[in-house]
Amino acid sequence: MKELWGKPVAEEIYHHLEQETARFIATTKKDPHLCAILVGDDIPSRTYVEMKQRACNRLGFSHNTLYLDEHIKEEELLMIIESLNYDLSVDGILVQLPLPKQLNTDRILEAIAPEKDVDGFHPVNVGKILLGNPDFISCTPYGILTMFDYYNIETSGKHVVVVGRSNIVGKPIAALLMQEGRDATVTVCHSKTTNLKEITTLADILIVAVGKPFFITPDYVKEGAIVIDVGINRVEDASRARGYRLVGDVDYDNVAAKTAAITPVPGGVGVMTVAMLMNNTLHAAKKGRE
Ligand code: NAP
Repeated sequence: MKELWGKPVAEEIYHHLEQETARFIATTKKDPHLCAILVGDDIPSRTYVEMKQRACNRLGFSHNTLYLDEHIKEEELLMIIESLNYDLSVDGILVQLPLPKQLNTDRILEAIAPEKDVDGFHPVNVGKILLGNPDFISCTPYGILTMFDYYNIETSGKHVVVVGRSNIVGKPIAALLMQEGRDATVTVCHSKTTNLKEITTLADILIVAVGKPFFITPDYVKEGAIVIDVGINRVEDASRARGYRLVGDVDYDNVAAKTAAITPVPGGVGVMTVAMLMNNTLHAAKKGRE
């Protein structure tokens, strides 16, 4: 069994981005610039935004974060996004999710100009993935593809089963892997799938994005399968100072021995997401200078 760690893959991406960023700045005399929008003071969201700020600092991107009141009105947020769309100094815009309940997430994400949509959530960018002509690919699916490339995981002709159909993971990774070039046969499962175990045990590659700790046990996995665990869940752990630890959707300790390769949690797919966001931000900056 091979453990598929995200760190060496992300480091390779950062190394490449450092070189590309230096070249971009030398040519354009401008830093790539990422603007993050954080509504309210959800602690995990704040932590994610800080991770993105640190990644920008590492690469020499400039960045700013708009810390907005949790009670902000939708129209006000839409006006802020519109002004950022027209701001030539801003290359990438990201709205940290989840948003407070009074805000319509779809409407907010659709307001971001597709050419600044570094999270890859805008319908135009999602549609381009489906048509096989991707521009901005959402960061977690992009991270999975990059890990496949790094670890020489062949998807052509393989049966990939995706468990979970979220807009940010399940749907885009399924759409990406069915395209020419990746050439997988893809099955997507969700909470209404009746015979889940029968389907997941057919998978050569099993991608799990459900959000339930230890959901995938050994009886869901074919001997020799490759398992990609996207889940990030907190479980209570009194032995840790913070009182919890992070686990995936896969019962790693019992499943790993059965697999040919598996991503650990933490340290697997999760590590890739910010690296791919940085990749998308530089892509946006380059497009803005075309
Ligand atoms: P989500 O929006 O929470 O949706 C969960 C999906 O799992 C839904 O499609 C749901 O089906 C499906 N599901 C729930 N119970 C199921 C069951 N019993 N059998 C089969 N399918 C079931 O998903 P998400 O946003 O993709 O997040 C999933 C996990 O990935 C979370 O732990 C999240 O924290 C993690 N995540 C990690 C990263 C990262 O690594 N950077 C990024 C994003 C998400 P229905 O559609 O029928 O409800």
